Amino acid sequence: MLLHDHLDGGVRPATVVDLARDAGYGALPSTDPENLRAWFEEASNSGSLERYLETFSHTVGVMQSVEALTRVAYECGEDLAADGVVYAEVRYAPEQHLSAGLTLEQVVEAVLDGFAKARRDFGIRVGTLVTAMRHQARSMEIAELAVRYRDLGVVGFDIAGAEAGYPPTRHLDAFEYLQRENAHFTIHAGEGFGLPSIWQAIQWCGADRLGHGVRIIDDIEVDGDEARLGRLAGYVRDKRIPLEMCPTSNIQTGAAKSIEEHPIGLLRRLSFRVTVNTDNRLMSGTSLSREFAKLRDAFGYGWDDLQWFTVNAMKSAFVPFNERLELINGVIKPGFAQLKWSGARPLA
Ligand SMILES: [Zn+2]
Repeated sequence: MLLHDHLDGGVRPATVVDLARDAGYGALPSTDPENLRAWFEEASNSGSLERYLETFSHTVGVMQSVEALTRVAYECGEDLAADGVVYAEVRYAPEQHLSAGLTLEQVVEAVLDGFAKARRDFGIRVGTLVTAMRHQARSMEIAELAVRYRDLGVVGFDIAGAEAGYPPTRHLDAFEYLQRENAHFTIHAGEGFGLPSIWQAIQWCGADRLGHGVRIIDDIEVDGDEARLGRLAGYVRDKRIPLEMCPTSNIQTGAAKSIEEHPIGLLRRLSFRVTVNTDNRLMSGTSLSREFAKLRDAFGYGWDDLQWFTVNAMKSAFVPFNERLELINGVIKPGFAQLKWSGARPLA
């Protein structure tokens, strides 16, 4: 169960190599899949934002045809299912896949097609979120796309990209449109930038969830065993606003220092609606079970904690309430009950 995963951040290295060859894309730093995997991780761990962003130019660069998009979506579903994920929300920015002449509709349909095939073959359900780039000016068009395809597998909308200098209110018309249409959306906020971004995302734009939201801790004062919540942090907790946290990614982008010091520990103790996510599986060399394993090691979490994160995520999904309940009561709880009963150490 996972809510925050980027399609262009989870491509298999071997697939990047294949697609680059098919498309005549010659800019890859290596055409050997293992070297390429290592290059992606190293560039992402370098602490340089330019190098981190360069990694996406390659994955996006090779995802410019219907076949490429369908394949990447299908393999994404296969990889998540192999990791034990039963429901995922995967996002991507359609406007970044137009350079070889595709239309926005063709991009959306190609991705939906790949996930439909993955569902048929692996049983995994994937809802897609269409993302608008916050430094661009196409958010209204992308929001309309989200509404047009909402009964066909697009479950929501998001904005992503550099946070500083591009506040969410820049796209207020898109968010107001989505609210009038009773549509769901999340906003990347409180990752590269602090509380004002979170405040705008919730109180101006009406976000249902926060992408990352780690900086909400700037509004919490800890004094020994006592924590005092500021008004914004109190609001986020009271309203059960889901935080889509991505521990490894947050360290790579500098939003957190280490797993041990990641705000997720405090926020879980304070019972915020915290969820655990992967963000970019390729760049971070991670998977959902790897994220859980790191949290288990850092905070001593057991099956109950992992179930709590998982149920939080399912409660916060953008699919209809009855489908969420079905997965919680029919799949997630029985699954964890079996794991606990088996006596196995979590993710040993
Ligand atoms: Zn993200």
